[in-house]
Amino acid sequence: MPFCPRCKAEYLDSVETCPDCQVDLVPVLPIEQVEMIDWVPVYQAPTEIAANMVQGILNSRNLQSSIRRNVVPGYVIPASWYDAYWGEILVPQEVAEQAKEIVQEYLDGLPYDENDQNSQTSEPS
Ligand SMILES: [Zn+2]
Repeated sequence: MPFCPRCKAEYLDSVETCPDCQVDLVPVLPIEQVEMIDWVPVYQAPTEIAANMVQGILNSRNLQSSIRRNVVPGYVIPASWYDAYWGEILVPQEVAEQAKEIVQEYLDGLPYDENDQNSQTSEPS
């Protein structure tokens, strides 16, 4: 599908010129129109829940972040991959140091071993 390089509208293959801008359509948008951000990993999340948790914390500090999945959604991880992580939290290079501190702060506040939570089932009284 061709695009208008000016207004970025998408047209049918039969259209050659954008009627709004009067410019020739291009098959793909030029790469420089894509926002170029240097993403740096700041946290390897063992689970999707952990990834969402950390992203939520970064969001609450007004830090932009992105999740890069290490596993395909719905795909069953082979046993040999057990020490593989679920995905990574990426942040723009310029806020990486700040984000790492926030993540570390969060991790320091976690219980020593997440599996411990299973043994101490806190029943609501
Ligand atoms: Zn246009």
